[in-house]
Amino acid sequence: MNIQKNVSLKELNTFGIDKKATFYAEAHNSQEVIEAITQAEQLGVGIFILGGGSNILLTKDIDALVLKMNIKGIDTVAEDEQYVYLKVGAGEVWHDFVQYCIAHGYGGVENLSLIPGTVGASPMQNIGAYGVEIKDVFESLEAVHMQTKFLKTFSHAACRFGYRESIFKNEAKGKYIITHVTFRLSKQPTFNTEYGAIKATLDEMGIKKLDIQSISKAVIAIRQSKLPDPAVIGNAASFFKNPTISPIHYEALKQEHPSIPGFKTEKGIKVPAAWLLEQAGWKGKTFGNIGVHKDQPLVLVNYGGGEGEAIKQLSQDIQRDILRRYNIQLQPEVNVV
Ligand SMILES: Cc1cc2nc3c(=O)[nH]c(=O)nc-3n(C[C@H](O)[C@H](O)[C@H](O)COP(=O)(O)OP(=O)(O)OC[C@H]3O[C@@H](n4cnc5c(N)ncnc54)[C@H](O)[C@@H]3O)c2cc1C
Repeated sequence: MNIQKNVSLKELNTFGIDKKATFYAEAHNSQEVIEAITQAEQLGVGIFILGGGSNILLTKDIDALVLKMNIKGIDTVAEDEQYVYLKVGAGEVWHDFVQYCIAHGYGGVENLSLIPGTVGASPMQNIGAYGVEIKDVFESLEAVHMQTKFLKTFSHAACRFGYRESIFKNEAKGKYIITHVTFRLSKQPTFNTEYGAIKATLDEMGIKKLDIQSISKAVIAIRQSKLPDPAVIGNAASFFKNPTISPIHYEALKQEHPSIPGFKTEKGIKVPAAWLLEQAGWKGKTFGNIGVHKDQPLVLVNYGGGEGEAIKQLSQDIQRDILRRYNIQLQPEVNVV
């Protein structure tokens, strides 16, 4: 295993923050993951797992062995009339996996087209978009326990998925390295076009016969028109999760702000964080080379040369302001490191 020293992570995180890893290596299989844990023990440092770097904000150099997940491969492990079960390496690029499924006619992930990052990170926050979350197609995953170096299989229930949540962001945080994820895809896909502008976009595209390919194309078109491309402006998309508040709290806010949107969920009323930030005047605010995106108030940006610490400070200023105005505590979706 080739371990490098003092490696810049600038090109390895979508915010484009220029911080260094004290040690850096890449893992191409489960054995190399175990070897990396041993190497880190010998070096006397911890391990930090890096996928595509699209959900992290680096505020300091990482004094650890940064292990970039490069485990590849998509294997069919089981099949029946209805479903196919694909075991996928943690280092596969998520969107490449989605394209693989579409090319093979396997339905379930088309609404999750173009989400940046790796397959291994997808269960971390139960990635979701356009009415679908990976929990809807997740079967199980394999992960190496960092202390015992044993491989453990996590079932769907064991992952405790929630909205942008899993056990890996809570009790199991920093304890496991996910090496493979198995998904259950449908051979007779049902289509999910209710969410957002999918239907309107399909109409605009003149799609007559609905299939997973056309849904993927519509989702890609919507995403490209809405979200800033990290290759142009550094960002990690939604910085905060949409908060859920009690019906009483929501009704009280509605008295004061009659246009406040709210969506009933099992846990209460979900309020779009973007609405709160826009109403509070954060949209488009710039502070030197960082700021809040001009069209997407939930997206904090690095225009170039920005510091992670300054973006973290901005996120905390926003949290304080939203708490003061609406009595709502926003939680970050991005992992602040
Ligand atoms: C333009 C843009 C659009 C986005 N749109 C969406 C969206 O629509 N929906 C959505 O849910 N997210 C979205 N995201 C967020 C992001 O794409 C996802 O969270 C993605 O799953 C992160 O993958 P990654 O490989 O880049 O993870 P990283 O940023 O590399 O890592 C994220 C966290 O997971 C840990 N980790 C990564 N891989 C592993 C592993 N194999 N084992 C253990 N821990 C691991 C890391 O240590 C870190 O704590 C978007 C981001 C961007 C930049």
